[in-house]
Amino acid sequence: MFRWRERIEPDGTLYGVDWVVTDRWGGSSQGEFAELNLGAHVGDDPAAVETNRHRLAHGFDVALRDLRFMDQQHGCGVTRVGGEQVEPGESPPPPPSSDGLITDDPDVVLVVLVADCTPVMLVDRTEGLAAVVHAGRPGMTSGVAQATVERLQALGADDLQAVVGPSICGRCYEVPAEMRDRAAAVSPVSATLSWTGTPAIDVAAGVVDQLTAAGVPVQWLPGCSRESEDLYSYRRDGQTGRYAAAVRLLAAEAVA
Ligand SMILES: [Zn+2]
Repeated sequence: MFRWRERIEPDGTLYGVDWVVTDRWGGSSQGEFAELNLGAHVGDDPAAVETNRHRLAHGFDVALRDLRFMDQQHGCGVTRVGGEQVEPGESPPPPPSSDGLITDDPDVVLVVLVADCTPVMLVDRTEGLAAVVHAGRPGMTSGVAQATVERLQALGADDLQAVVGPSICGRCYEVPAEMRDRAAAVSPVSATLSWTGTPAIDVAAGVVDQLTAAGVPVQWLPGCSRESEDLYSYRRDGQTGRYAAAVRLLAAEAVA
């Protein structure tokens, strides 16, 4: 279920964080969506997706209604969520059309869904802020990671750290030469070659470079979605599921 997980407990006035990357195992979905598909708009059985999302929520010790998803657009919109006081039996607010989510609410879990795109999680343990970012090629070139960092900084963040989850690697992301050149104009480090020596883009390298340039230390998790049978890959499989990166703040002690 979890390919990667780190839990840092609160320490004095510092918030803690619980952040994860899921894999495709340990869920109820069948066929090309097997097993832990968390995407609701990919053609999978809605009941199976809901069961899988329940498992993710349970892993964070929250209710299904406490998960916050995005209606991901491949853009650079950023939305602040949390603090909604959703009661048992009520539905959470509909997912905003956005590619970045921010919260200061330890009672919600932010979720970004991917199948090759680059998932990013951010936290500021001093200010008590968390974020997720959906950064595919269009998001990288339009600067969604920087837009999210700037929004966090406007809320007071100056102690950010990031985890960049696994995505399709540069060797596996062959593109037309002009598409690589457009990406390279934004992020030179993203220009690369495929396994067969043709033009390719390393989107994650571009995102990591953008975060680093913004002064955010990055932990970049290994793995390629297209090469790993443990992850969903749109390039490899076409119709398929979505894995997730998800983050929850852990409340700090109240300051006396
Ligand atoms: Zn690869």
